[in-house]
Amino acid sequence: AHYLQRIERLDDKLNSFISVTAERALNAAEAADKARADGHAHALAGIPLALKDIFCTQSVKTSCGSKMLDNFVAPYDATVVEKLEAAHTVSLGKTNMDEFAMGSSNENSHYGPVKNPWDLKAVPGGSSGGSAAAVAAGLVPAALGTDTGGSIRQPAAFCGITGLKPTYGRVSRYGMIAYASSLDQAGPMARSASDCAHLMNVIAGHDVRDSTSAARGVPDYTENLDAPLSGLKIGLPKEYFGDGLDADVERAVREAVRVYESLGATVREVSLPHTHYAIPAYYVIAPAEASSNLSRFDGVRFGHRCEDPKDLIDLYTRTRQEGFGEEVKRRILIGTHTLSEGFFDAYYIKAQKVRRLIRQDFLDAFEDVDVLMGPAAPTTAFNLGAKKDPVSMYLQDIYTIAVNLAGIPGISVPAGFAHGRPVGLQILGTHFAEAQLLNVAHQFQ
Ligand code: GLN
Repeated sequence: AHYLQRIERLDDKLNSFISVTAERALNAAEAADKARADGHAHALAGIPLALKDIFCTQSVKTSCGSKMLDNFVAPYDATVVEKLEAAHTVSLGKTNMDEFAMGSSNENSHYGPVKNPWDLKAVPGGSSGGSAAAVAAGLVPAALGTDTGGSIRQPAAFCGITGLKPTYGRVSRYGMIAYASSLDQAGPMARSASDCAHLMNVIAGHDVRDSTSAARGVPDYTENLDAPLSGLKIGLPKEYFGDGLDADVERAVREAVRVYESLGATVREVSLPHTHYAIPAYYVIAPAEASSNLSRFDGVRFGHRCEDPKDLIDLYTRTRQEGFGEEVKRRILIGTHTLSEGFFDAYYIKAQKVRRLIRQDFLDAFEDVDVLMGPAAPTTAFNLGAKKDPVSMYLQDIYTIAVNLAGIPGISVPAGFAHGRPVGLQILGTHFAEAQLLNVAHQFQ
């Protein structure tokens, strides 16, 4: 009730929720109380949460931030939703996001932009901007986001919270509306690494309904949080401290690294030589996969449908023209182009080769160090409307998207302020090193 009241009182200013499901939440809270009274409650029973509006929820709208799905109620729950419900957590609603998770500022939503609670002139980051803003403003203690190219870590950084992108395959993608299937991954956004660890304990694990989910055991992510860090080997990728990085963000990040040194870690510079190619490779691969994934929105089976179509082609054309926003259309055009005959080898296949090299950069670095540290984003939160051309927006993703191309986990941790706005320290580990990342993040907090 406390959190629902805060949403009611404050979310007009932030616009962080698309749907608030107060009545369902109160019923779920009652069920959680009952489970507690019966003595078989999960540790998180009764904890309020919010879900990015990309996770399918039975009987509640799942819009994915798009007019295309403004009328869509999924006939089933995503695996992560099912798991959170089984643990008797209480969903308060669905959070705002960039349309189909495409964006870095949450300005691409059909439901209007989200505001950053630290400064209402600033964006919260994207695409999980609603989840980040809601947690930062104390409208909910924790939320789920998704990260295809930085969409958990960058908004976590902009809003001063902790956000973890797990290893690709660690968390089931079943029931999560697909953007770029080989990159998409769900993860927790919360006020601390310890809260993220508790959520990971619920959502991680193999799922037979997602063929890319990893069939390996799930550790207790809370177990290692207090392990001492003496002897930890930290690498600072020199490419993450170059041109384009705001000097005050750099200062805050280097200060955080010094804290780790004082905890007994050693620091050395490393190189990820193909970093420069991450943005071009990602902006070929992600739109290619998106153009294919989004072909299902045709006005026939679900979602928006244009009025009085003349024939089938008119139905497809007008439905998609009306239902999709500008950025989504841009990605579909890029993706269709790079997958078309004559361009496929030059763009798509080339980008896949570059992806391989980027992954190898990380594997080589992890031969020498345990974790990598750097900024989550080159600047702090920028003002709403400040980035008008798509390329300057894509450049926001410079430190986050290589991680998705490589499939490794990454976490953004609050590391002070620059220009009065939060800075995120990004910590990266090798595949399935989530427990270590949470431990390292927790020791800083
Ligand atoms: N900003 C990136 C994009 O627009 C990443 C988005 C994401 O991680 N979902 O594609």
